[in-house]
Amino acid sequence: MTDIAISGLGKAFGGNRVVSDVSMHIQSGEFVAVLGPSGCGKTTLLRLIAGFERPDAGSIRFAGELASSASHHTPPEQRDLGIVFQNYALWPHMSVAENVGYSLKVTGVPAGERRRRVAEALKTVALDGMAERRPSDLSGGQRQRVALSRCLAARNGIVLLDEPLANLDVHLRAAMEHEFTRFHQASGSTMVYITHDQSEAMALADRVAVMDAGRLVQFAAPATLYREPATEMVAGFIGEGIVLPAEDIIADGAGRAQANILGAPVTLRCAPGERARRSAAIGLHPQDIRLAVPGETSLPARIRRLSYRGGSFRAEAVCEAAPETVLAFDLPEQAPLAPGAPVSLAIGDGWVIPALAA
Ligand code: ATP
Repeated sequence: MTDIAISGLGKAFGGNRVVSDVSMHIQSGEFVAVLGPSGCGKTTLLRLIAGFERPDAGSIRFAGELASSASHHTPPEQRDLGIVFQNYALWPHMSVAENVGYSLKVTGVPAGERRRRVAEALKTVALDGMAERRPSDLSGGQRQRVALSRCLAARNGIVLLDEPLANLDVHLRAAMEHEFTRFHQASGSTMVYITHDQSEAMALADRVAVMDAGRLVQFAAPATLYREPATEMVAGFIGEGIVLPAEDIIADGAGRAQANILGAPVTLRCAPGERARRSAAIGLHPQDIRLAVPGETSLPARIRRLSYRGGSFRAEAVCEAAPETVLAFDLPEQAPLAPGAPVSLAIGDGWVIPALAA
């Protein structure tokens, strides 16, 4: 079993700092997703862990043993890791079984054991009837399962996955998510999964590391990212996050705060250490917004658009007090509202995004 300890990691290309002071400890057997927008440095972080790149600051340790630092570099082939790429990286001239067994052959595993491990790995990903096929005779999803079974057969302590579903259609992606979960349970490997798709990260990972412009901005369980985003970027990136300005925040020291949002008094959740502030950004989701009941404190708004979601409508409403502010929320299918209708919106359960550390 292998944990990964990353400390103060930095990497620049030319003058361009791509990974800045990243520290994180990935537990042995944990499934971690690294999530962020295009260009935030996710792939570079993965390449640093794999040993394809050398850091210019900080260190990476596997099971306590130094693998990378500015002055030390363990080559990729000496790191106990398997990699699943978005383009599968299978040998086209080899059969499925030969692809899966290749690394075992190179590392001198005897033929009998090799055959047994390959058969077992192919069975786990339900490809046992396809051992003699060539990769070109398989679908995209099947090829990705071959790549996974290669890591299973090799029994890698760490498996790195670089946007493995990027080339698959939406139905196959859902099926493959299940495949990754099964793989993780069967292998017990420590998994690091790179993606820009937040729903994939939230569905699969024990913890998600969110990166923004080369920095790790939050490393937490999916529910924590959703409920307690550390920055405005995380609040807007996770779920269908909405970020609103609030004023006159008064915290009670026990995780609750009062504030004004667009002139309406609201009760919010906040960190226990939160203090009184003149202004703050508030993170919300459509699920936190609903039609107010008569007499309830509310924001006046006007429906701009309704889109059918199957069983409900997603409504977008423009706030009267701030026409640039659009709030999205869900309306039951029977709701007798049309675009242009005035509504009163109640906001519940918003989160006071912590002030940035100086
Ligand atoms: P994407 O989701 O688009 O793949 P990413 O978050 O994985 O993005 P990286 O591929 O790590 O981001 O790239 C981060 C930045 O580093 C980009 O601006 C990229 O152009 C730059 N970069 C990556 N590799 C190199 C390299 N070998 N030489 C120079 N610049 C590089």
